[in-house]
Amino acid sequence: MKTELFSQLYSLIKSSKSVAIISHVSPDGDTLASSYALKLFIDSLGVRADLFCEDKCPYSYFFLIDSTAYSTDDIDENKYDAFIAVDCADALRTGKYSVIFNKKNRTAVIDHHKTNVGYADINIIDETAAATGVIVFDFFQSVNHKMSREQAELIYAAISTDTGNFTYSNADRRAYNVAGICVESGIDVAGLTKCLFKDKSINKLNLIASAILTIKLHYDGKISSMTVSNDMLEKTGCTYDDTDELINYCRDIYGVKAAVLVRETAEVGVLKVSMRSNDVDVAAVALSHGGGGHTNAAGCNLKMPLLQGEELIVKELSELL
Ligand code: 5GP
Ligand code: MN
Repeated sequence: MKTELFSQLYSLIKSSKSVAIISHVSPDGDTLASSYALKLFIDSLGVRADLFCEDKCPYSYFFLIDSTAYSTDDIDENKYDAFIAVDCADALRTGKYSVIFNKKNRTAVIDHHKTNVGYADINIIDETAAATGVIVFDFFQSVNHKMSREQAELIYAAISTDTGNFTYSNADRRAYNVAGICVESGIDVAGLTKCLFKDKSINKLNLIASAILTIKLHYDGKISSMTVSNDMLEKTGCTYDDTDELINYCRDIYGVKAAVLVRETAEVGVLKVSMRSNDVDVAAVALSHGGGGHTNAAGCNLKMPLLQGEELIVKELSELL
């Protein structure tokens, strides 16, 4: 089935002069690196590929990709013959570009979220893939495209970021296999790992310190929660982009089955909720608030004050215990 979908995607690209590739809002390593690797492939076919993301590329990925290649502008639909969403679980995750997918005209989605019901003409959704980067790699193989070293770095980065540097339960044999093929192309794994997972500013360290102080345990320590306010960002000289991995401190506490991080966003009154679990399905809670994700990692938005959001999600997670 996937072979057929890959050949449909290939035909869509080959029959286009220009393709728009779209990453999800609050972009992460998987959506950015997978879309960039795909762009390089499409470029190599002599077809123009432009990258779009409603939110700016976080500075922590500047070492990996040409961040100026991502446009935050509206897409002029007349300029493109095809539209491909990468790692976007639903049309809303493409942000303002969702209108394009609602029309369903020469659209495709490549994704690995189990909550993705398919919202494009060509829906390549494989929830068994650890990262969208794994599916992009499969696509390259199906069209006999040999990855360049740069593409290997990107695919490796996509997989390593979505598996928490191969520490989450989605780090399966297939993920290691593809990563191994990337390593064979001579990529600098230690260098990439340092840039992706270790390097941080002193401001970020200060933010981590203040975020850790907000951690609360609930229900006999089975649920943990953390909150990050805009005030904390201001005081530590950080931006929202610095808040990404904070939830790990909350999840990695002995005895915790589910963890939640609630963040204030730039939009007043709008909260971003991130959930992680060790053995319950947090995607169910995310879905009930219009979000989505995976069994062990999911997210959604809420419109309410910060502490009220924290209380609500903690209560809902407790119902899964
Ligand atoms: P994170 O907590 O790192 O932002 O996201 C965890 C997982 O849930 C990721 O796979 C991400 O794509 C997904 N996710 C986060 N927020 C949302 C959301 O608002 N809607 C959907 N559909 N998925 C989300
Ligand atoms: Mn992903």
